[in-house]
Amino acid sequence: MLIFEKTKQGRKCTEIKKPNVDKYNLDASFLRENDANLPEIAEIDLVRHYSGYASQAKGVDNVFYPLGSCTMKYNPKVNEEVASLKGFTNIHPLQDESDVQGALEVMYTLSERLKEITGMDDVSLQPFAGAQGEYAALKLIEAYHKENSKTPRTKIIVPDSAHGTNPASARLAGYEIINVKSNSDYGVDLDELKKVVGDDTAALMLTNPTTLGLFEKNIKKISDIVHKAGGLLYYDGANLNAIMGVIRPGDMGFDVVHLNLHKTFSTPHGGGGPGSGPIGCKEILSKYLPNPKVVKVGNEYFFNCDPSSIGKVGSFYGNFLVYLKAFAYIETLGKEGIPMSAKLAVLNANYLKFNLEDKYKAINSKSKYCMHEFVLSLEDMKKEIGVSAMDVAKCLIDKNIHPPTMYFPLIVSEALMFEPTETESKETLDVAIKAMKDIYEVAHSNPEYCHGAPYKATIKRPDETTAARTPILKHV
Ligand SMILES: *Cc1c(COP(=O)(O)O)cnc(C)c1O
Repeated sequence: MLIFEKTKQGRKCTEIKKPNVDKYNLDASFLRENDANLPEIAEIDLVRHYSGYASQAKGVDNVFYPLGSCTMKYNPKVNEEVASLKGFTNIHPLQDESDVQGALEVMYTLSERLKEITGMDDVSLQPFAGAQGEYAALKLIEAYHKENSKTPRTKIIVPDSAHGTNPASARLAGYEIINVKSNSDYGVDLDELKKVVGDDTAALMLTNPTTLGLFEKNIKKISDIVHKAGGLLYYDGANLNAIMGVIRPGDMGFDVVHLNLHKTFSTPHGGGGPGSGPIGCKEILSKYLPNPKVVKVGNEYFFNCDPSSIGKVGSFYGNFLVYLKAFAYIETLGKEGIPMSAKLAVLNANYLKFNLEDKYKAINSKSKYCMHEFVLSLEDMKKEIGVSAMDVAKCLIDKNIHPPTMYFPLIVSEALMFEPTETESKETLDVAIKAMKDIYEVAHSNPEYCHGAPYKATIKRPDETTAARTPILKHV
């Protein structure tokens, strides 16, 4: 029901006192012809109306949300508080540098911390999302080759296990995409890589751990192959949760990296924003980073523009309030807390994986460790009893658990990708394990039941494609 349908003429939230100043008569051209169509409702009904809708939404604040490749972890509320301090929210991006030294210090210090975490020489905070960070980083790569390469470098190599944004960003940046197959261990096939790499290679885009939650052990060899051919190495660091504070992309041979502050560094996400996708790079790419950058001279902070820069990739200085949350998060966790959080993320994923493996098939074989996430393949289950990954995901909704990522990565059929994150307790994981085992039992005793799930949700089985492409919005 819409709030407008709850209207009762004359009902109000508050009584505003008649002002004791004379009425000012506005020019008639400024006046609307009819009264504004506003709901008339009491405050309590207004509150219940919106809290009612809020309680139907599944979010990390009310349910376990193991959405792989998304790091839906709990974000400490104190970081929101820091981002809402008036000293930060009441400033304007066009204010003079001398007025906003505190804000510049936050940007500078956050960049320093991210440099240390990624093992890079320089950082730009400006991009507004992971994919935009990818695009900006590819533009750095383009600028670098323009200046340094003897041959035109038009190709970006992307493994078949890559996140979908990688080839999309590369295409948008004007590159041709070259796919490289995975080997039987789901890593990059080195022979395949050697075949496609050459003097037209601009870069290889890779993530480690891969989107399958597996650590790419050949990373040094991969780095050598690409660098020898004159290409650069790009790290998709959207999900740094598995490694932050433990190992660094810069030490693995990567030249440029993007991070998602709205996954790993304490900004809640889902639903489209706000986000932030900083990029870090090695010295050789530093001068091409987006303008402006914050520099420190003595004890003062300034904006600095480099003439070699690829230019701006967003308005003003990026999503400043997201920086504050990331900054507060990093400072509160500190040098001990950051690696501990990564280790717990990996421990939780392994606990879940090992406990599900007697019923479900994980794509890396039994008793092998995963990183912060893992992928189940329900291919056999679908063949044997007709219950698909989609059916199991829908059953989880009835168990009050947000479904994991489904049908991704594309190289695994009937995929369910779980990422529990470090913020979940053993008790929560045990509830999820029991839920998955119960679903397994039902699937085998009554597969029909699974096809009909969810039974408790408002919307049950929409046509997923139509719902995404041409949604029909209505209210219930
Ligand atoms: C989320 C994600 C991205 C894209 O980030 P956006 O902020 O959604 O653009 C890129 N790569 C990986 C591995 C991701 O998980």
